[in-house]
Amino acid sequence: MFNLGMIGVKRLDFLKTRLRLSSLPLPARLAALVPAPATVQADFEVLGCCAQVTRRQNSKTEDKRLLAARRTLLLIGNLRWPFERFFKAAHSHAISKCLYGWLARTPTQKDSWKIWADIRRAQRVHQWANRFLRAILYGGNGHLDCLSGTNLLRIVAKMMLVGQTTWSDRRCAGTPLWSLDHWFSNHGNASDAPYVWKSEHEKFTVNLNRMTVCEARHAARMGWRWYMWQRFLQSGRHECPEVHELCVDRFANFDFTKIRTEAATRPAYRALVTGAMLSPACLQNQNDQTLFPTDCPWCGTPVGHWWHVIWHCNMRPTQLAPPTCPVTARLGWGASQDQIQWLTLASEAIWRHGHGAEAAFY
Ligand SMILES: [Zn+2]
Repeated sequence: MFNLGMIGVKRLDFLKTRLRLSSLPLPARLAALVPAPATVQADFEVLGCCAQVTRRQNSKTEDKRLLAARRTLLLIGNLRWPFERFFKAAHSHAISKCLYGWLARTPTQKDSWKIWADIRRAQRVHQWANRFLRAILYGGNGHLDCLSGTNLLRIVAKMMLVGQTTWSDRRCAGTPLWSLDHWFSNHGNASDAPYVWKSEHEKFTVNLNRMTVCEARHAARMGWRWYMWQRFLQSGRHECPEVHELCVDRFANFDFTKIRTEAATRPAYRALVTGAMLSPACLQNQNDQTLFPTDCPWCGTPVGHWWHVIWHCNMRPTQLAPPTCPVTARLGWGASQDQIQWLTLASEAIWRHGHGAEAAFY
């Protein structure tokens, strides 16, 4: 559509052809490129033939299911349950309301992220937590985008068993295999053999010919997490330049279940692994300097950067050596037990330093 628009606008004068586009943000992008932005419109006409591209609309039933899930999340959020208890209830009572019915197509990205944001608000997760980091750690069992894909995987595997699908169905719009193939291609996986979808690491490759449903879903979740990591690196967060060199092998070896288990009993560590823990120096950038102290809580250096406060300050209560992996140093993923204890203690100290001794995690 974008290319067609470009050709049409370039030949506008001599072909007497009028082109219009409706798929935002393409018209805006096109308008920025052409000398006469007013000529870019929302539908198009070529040699007397008119056409229009519209944004996909949810059906009433789909909207109803999504609304029911969001209302339940709001209700459960009012109960102010602890983190883990809330998450279990959200999965069984809210996400389950909007998880079924995605066979001919998957939910839109917009709707999936809206539900994910509702979970954050209802769970009272700190606003500085990053949505992609949260998705990597907790989305496998709670993000509609991931769950709709792994659900399709289960359905297609079952259809294969009883001979209700053939590989050619991936070309037939509206079949579960077509939806699943689209889901994989939208998340960085490509298919090079029947029922095999490859990603950047062999651990993320899904092969329904030789894997159990459980193994296939695990591999799909890992591939989805790696895709979310790419999205995080593109998000422009201040940590991204420090951690962008993480290789796929190291990522594949992170034990996300262990991280969640450790984070379940340590709110400060949970804040750290989801990106919600900022250094005093970062608070200087985020807020009025008079609101939060920006110095190092150990030695009083005026601007306490993360690496100084956690790993280099001579006055810190431990002299634990910094980890070689920047993601472990910054986000605490893959940290040893000693490192987890220190990162938790340091995070609590930074929090108390910034918000006072009365401030507590929960
Ligand atoms: Zn210091």
